[in-house]
Amino acid sequence: MQKCNVCKSKFRWKEILFSIWSSYKPVVCRNCGKKHTISFSSKFFVSFLIVVPAVIFGLVMAPDMGLSKPVTFGIIVMIAFIISLLLPFFVKYEVKAKTK
Ligand SMILES: [Zn+2]
Repeated sequence: MQKCNVCKSKFRWKEILFSIWSSYKPVVCRNCGKKHTISFSSKFFVSFLIVVPAVIFGLVMAPDMGLSKPVTFGIIVMIAFIISLLLPFFVKYEVKAKTK
């Protein structure tokens, strides 16, 4: 799990999850107050991890199983939700460069 780049205190799973859900809001360290933003590659990784299974399911598995569109959509949302629960273990955050 991600640690603070400055004081090495650990971020909570929940903090990172909420950051991802609120479209990559920066995570502020509880200990030293430093702002951490998700790295560019992690952003890419997150979209990749959510989009690829959703597309594979929607285009390959759902038609094969004869699922209707609303059911397919519901399952895709569920898949994305479950994947997002695991994302805090994989994403990287970095201290934001000073901006004026
Ligand atoms: Zn810190």
